[in-house]
Amino acid sequence: MTDTLRTGRPRGPDLQKDGFHHQARKRFGQNFLHDQNIIGRIIRAIAPQAGDHLVEIGPGQGALTRHLLQQCGHLDAVELDRDLAAYLQSTLGADPRFALHEGDVLKFDLRSLLPQDATARPRSLRVVGNLPYNISTPCMFHLLQSEQWIADMHFMLQLEVVQRLAAVPGDEHYGRLSLMMQYHCTVEHLFDVPGTAFVPQPKVCSAIVRLVPHARKPVQVLDVACLQDVVRIAFTQRRKTLKNSLRTLISEAALSALPIDISLRPENLSLADYALIADCITRSRQQSSLEADTATARQEESRVEN
Ligand code: SAM
Repeated sequence: MTDTLRTGRPRGPDLQKDGFHHQARKRFGQNFLHDQNIIGRIIRAIAPQAGDHLVEIGPGQGALTRHLLQQCGHLDAVELDRDLAAYLQSTLGADPRFALHEGDVLKFDLRSLLPQDATARPRSLRVVGNLPYNISTPCMFHLLQSEQWIADMHFMLQLEVVQRLAAVPGDEHYGRLSLMMQYHCTVEHLFDVPGTAFVPQPKVCSAIVRLVPHARKPVQVLDVACLQDVVRIAFTQRRKTLKNSLRTLISEAALSALPIDISLRPENLSLADYALIADCITRSRQQSSLEADTATARQEESRVEN
């Protein structure tokens, strides 16, 4: 059933390819690349090699897929739209180096693409995709749960998202996304892509980003969840100074004892500064929990003695 039939109104331009007729679905973030120069530039940035194992998220009508397949060793593609999945299977399915996985990338386990035994090589997957903009951030963080299997990632994203990923302290785009992505990866803003490169044209500009998971994290933290909390709370109240925004997590005295200027605003602190704060909170939580355990043990002892 097409969207038109389902909703009674057209949702986007009709696209014709190899006798295949598809209506772009807004809810799946479908903006198909058609500019051959841009497609060539993206393929050159990825530079697939004969032995590479690629994973493409949202292959759509195969604008990138066909070029990638010509150069790589194996390509797994994850596509949610079952009409596009059927089209890709019928046009590329005969190639033994191509495998299509119909489903939601947010539920897809990258590890399932590798041998289950110990022969699976760490950092062997190269992930690529012109990501559906409505799920691009959750998609990147979902993939990062399998970061030990990923060599690198090349994504087309909204320009503003790429600016936020790559921003450094003091930039207007610097925030939670910059810090948490840079904790996991090096981020490289490669080039911008105008709306005219797509059908239908998105309202915003896009850009290509390269993300390479760190072999060793740039900062070591005792508890990543605590780092996430600190960063989230700090940037929820972006205009407050650090000591005010983090009041619920850490006392002013404990914060002042750290080698950080606590009169700064959240956008002026580095990842290393946030790591120091997070570890101070984690240590104090560990200390409180140890004290609580000791108190319970003492109560137990005195109950037994009596
Ligand atoms: N790669 C194609 C291109 O560049 O022309 C299509 C890119 S389009 C922006 C995004 C693609 O992701 C669409 O094919 C869409 O159906 C697919 N998609 C959307 N949500 C998805 C999801 N949750 N999991 C997998 N694919 C998804």
